[in-house]
Order: sequence, then C-alpha cells, then structure tokens
Amino acid sequence: MKPMLLDELYQILKNVRVDNPICQYTPQKCALLLPYINKIRALKEKNNALVLAHSYVHSDIIYGVADHSGDSYELAKIAKETDSSIILFAGVRFMAETAKILNPHKCVIDPNPNSSCTLADSITEEDVHRLREKYPHHTFVCYINTSAGIKALCDVCVTSSNVYTVVAKIPNDKIFFLPDRYMGENVKQYLQESKIDKQFLYYHGKCDVHEKYESAHIDLIKNNHPHTMVIAHPECKKEVVQKADMVGSTSQMMRYVQQHPHKDYLILTECGISSRIQIENPQANIVGTCMLCSFMRANSLPAIISALENPSPSQIIEIDKNILIRAKTCIDAMFSYGS
Ligand code: SF4
Repeated sequence: MKPMLLDELYQILKNVRVDNPICQYTPQKCALLLPYINKIRALKEKNNALVLAHSYVHSDIIYGVADHSGDSYELAKIAKETDSSIILFAGVRFMAETAKILNPHKCVIDPNPNSSCTLADSITEEDVHRLREKYPHHTFVCYINTSAGIKALCDVCVTSSNVYTVVAKIPNDKIFFLPDRYMGENVKQYLQESKIDKQFLYYHGKCDVHEKYESAHIDLIKNNHPHTMVIAHPECKKEVVQKADMVGSTSQMMRYVQQHPHKDYLILTECGISSRIQIENPQANIVGTCMLCSFMRANSLPAIISALENPSPSQIIEIDKNILIRAKTCIDAMFSYGS
C-alpha cells in the first residue's frame, strides 16, 4: 500500500456528515491522523499483514488502512481465503477469534484494548451446557457474535446476513438459537410468515446498541420525512424490524442503498454504516441519530501500530486446539448451507 496524501484522505472522509462530531473529519483532524495511517501502510507491507475492519470502526481505519471492510460474514470469508501471514482484525474479540478458527496456522491479532461485545458476553459456556441438557433433540444455532468456546458447543453458526436462510434450511424442526433475543424474535416471526413449521426457541441475550432503537423513532422521522426508507439490523427489536422497509446485515444495507436511489434513509444500526454510506453513496441523505458502539470505537490507529510492531500476548489470539476444531465444525456447517 503506497503512502496516502493529506488531500486524498480528506476528500474521502469529508463526506461523513452524520450528527456525531466523533465521526466527522476536518482537514486538521486528517493531518493529525495521516502519519499514523502511513506508518500502518508501511508496517503492513513489511510484515505481510492483512487488515480487516468491521463497518462499525472509525472511518479513518476503514478508508485509511483496511484491505477489506464489511460485516462479520464477508470478513470471515476473506479471512478464510487470505495468503497473508498476519491477519489484524479491527473489530471486537469474537471476530478476531473467528479469523483464527478459520486460519489456525496464521498469526491473528486483535488490536482493540476493549474488544468486548455485550451480546457475545450475554451467554456463558455453562449456560449452553445447561440448555443442551434441557433440549437434547434441538439443533443449537449460534450467532457469530459468540466466543470460540460457545461456538464449540453449538452445531451451526449464522451471521446477520444469512440467519434467516440457514435456519430455514436446517433439516431439524427443533432449533435453539442463541444468544440474541431480538434476532430470535425476528427469525421466529419470519418462520411463521414463511409457513416454515419449526419449534424455534431462543436465549435472552441482547446488544445494548441495537436495543436502544424504538419504533417511536421511526414514527417521529416518518412524520417529518414521510418518504424515508427505513433500514434495520435484525438485532433490533421485533416492533422496529416490522416497521422497516429493509432488514439485513451491514453489507446488505450498503448494497440496498446502492441499488435503491432514494433520497432519505433512516439507518437503524451502529453509526459506522451511515458514515460508509455517505462516503460511498453520496446521493443518499441520512436522517436520524448516530448510535455508537463503544467497543468497536475503542479501535484506533495508534493501537493498530503497536499491535503490528510489538503485539502483547493479550492481542495475539490463541485458542485451545480442541475448542478450535469444534468451533470450526460449527462455522463450516454455516458455509455448507451455502448462504
Ligand atoms: S454493536 Fe452490539 S453486537 Fe455489535 S459489537 Fe457492539 S455490542 Fe456487540
């Protein structure tokens, strides 16, 4: 990756106009960030490192240093195919773990000093053992937002981009889904509406960011902007999802906006995707508020530099071999459904 010029960086990032100053870029802010960006670009080349960035991290990471950005599913597929010897994952811990599970012989680095996720942390391995004893005939489906240890105890992994199709395709008519309660409610509703007859149970975890969206937000925006297209993530509540014009993962949202040249969009997910839409689809007008995930936003350019130069033991992903093999079986089951 060749060094970036200040004007090149600013011309990209100036398009972010969401209402949160944390997301916005001035020429002065770009000038402060540029030395970090160019240092990372040089380190990547020197170390043969690939940088993957989730769409919820800061735009300077996505447009300054990432080789690929997207949702968990897209990035998991790229991690599976890369030739790079080091994978640095700017996201949260379960994402870096997923990259390691798919590349056990590569060095996978998580630069994030606070890479928790309220959703992934809402269930423990003891909880899954207890549930499997209680529901021995159910297929256990876990969302990708789970630790390697939880994946190792489940049968099939899903992401927000494929959860509906994979659950529908699973041959067992008894399914236990974990950990997201709201996604569980949304999938159950989809199965009912599609007349797919399954006993579908789900756990009560939740994401603190997506939980904050209420259907009243949609009503308020629609009152002032009646032609607004509402796009929601399936981690939102059922009453929110039911009022949305489109429901999908962050990458599906990006594609939807590209294909539907409407003017006003209300995007009900972490604000990073609104920034990406403003940069990549400047014709779209984003209305509504900007909700941030503090865990994703803990990723920073200085943390990426120190992780590439001299990663601490806590930044290098290590997974017990037996857990890794079982978790990989769970993820491979997802890929086998071809979604
Ligand atoms: S937005 Fe929610 S689900 Fe995504 S990383 Fe943050 S806490 Fe976890």
